[in-house]
Amino acid sequence: MADAITITEVRIHCDTCHHEFPGQPPDWHNKDCPKCGAPDIITDRDMAIWLHMNALREAANEWIGDVGENPEAIMHVTFSTAPEDTQ
Ligand SMILES: [Zn+2]
Repeated sequence: MADAITITEVRIHCDTCHHEFPGQPPDWHNKDCPKCGAPDIITDRDMAIWLHMNALREAANEWIGDVGENPEAIMHVTFSTAPEDTQ
């Protein structure tokens, strides 16, 4: 069984020192950067986008149903807070 839309990459990025961190957005929501101390690595706005994107993905996957192992039927999504990815 496979979902039609999968999140294959999550990039958690500090806008101040540009360090990237492992994990998922909720892990870093309103947390300070451990490298430089900048506040809110994942802001309320980032978190809202993450939650809405996931709700949309889940609804679409439920509507589309199982796409099996057909790689052409699977859409891969990246979530990133890095500035070069959000412009
Ligand atoms: Zn930082």
